[in-house]
Amino acid sequence: MNSSCLTSTEQVRAQAVHLAAAPLDEVLHWAYDAFGEKAAIGTSFQGAGLVMIHHALEAGIALPVFTLDTGVLFPETLALKERLETFWGIEIESVKPTLSLEAQEAEFGAELWRSRPDFCCQLRKVEPLRERLESLSVWITGVRQEQGETRKGAAILERYVFDPLMERTILKLNPMVAWTREQVWAYIKTHGIPYNPLHDKGYRSIGCQPCTRVSNADGAERAGRWEGFEKTECGIHTFLPVAQ
Ligand code: SF4
Repeated sequence: MNSSCLTSTEQVRAQAVHLAAAPLDEVLHWAYDAFGEKAAIGTSFQGAGLVMIHHALEAGIALPVFTLDTGVLFPETLALKERLETFWGIEIESVKPTLSLEAQEAEFGAELWRSRPDFCCQLRKVEPLRERLESLSVWITGVRQEQGETRKGAAILERYVFDPLMERTILKLNPMVAWTREQVWAYIKTHGIPYNPLHDKGYRSIGCQPCTRVSNADGAERAGRWEGFEKTECGIHTFLPVAQ
């Protein structure tokens, strides 16, 4: 199905059924063939994102790759970005917030992640992502159903209302949605893909440094994020309403 046939939720659901039965290479090929550089992979360098990018490059699919650099990432994560660029021979775009940390502190107070983590995520993740999505038709993510309650209902292809006033929608493609953590890590190890060394120190899901802790290997995958808060998502996977 080409891009012009995906204007209704029913058409998107039908394409999702088709894609769910297809191998990963075919899913990524479809995105690039239908949308070109209007489709891009967003990654925070968790395992699923690494698998997806590696697959795309091995298959000769030149999808753009970007990451959200909040300004408070672990040094290990920033170093990983450089290692991956060398390993894959690509450039990974860093999407940054408008406000520097200093400007944020001057306007809203120090360490906003301690007092108002949702607002901090809005400023440092959601708004920069929204701006990047403005130029895209398809946002490709490493979301997996197994990651937790908020993600278990994710489909391989979803349509979101991006701009309610203009009735503009965007497609979200989650090619890794049915992969297990074990499958992801087996692939990474088999193919020798560089990964965040913090995983070997007990961090299961790695985000911003102030909001990420070592977590119990038997617990939920995203345990260790925003410890002490009733918060499991930064908002980038929940800010767009699903199109009806
Ligand atoms: S994860 Fe923490 S530091 Fe990062 S944007 Fe959200 S609240 Fe701020």
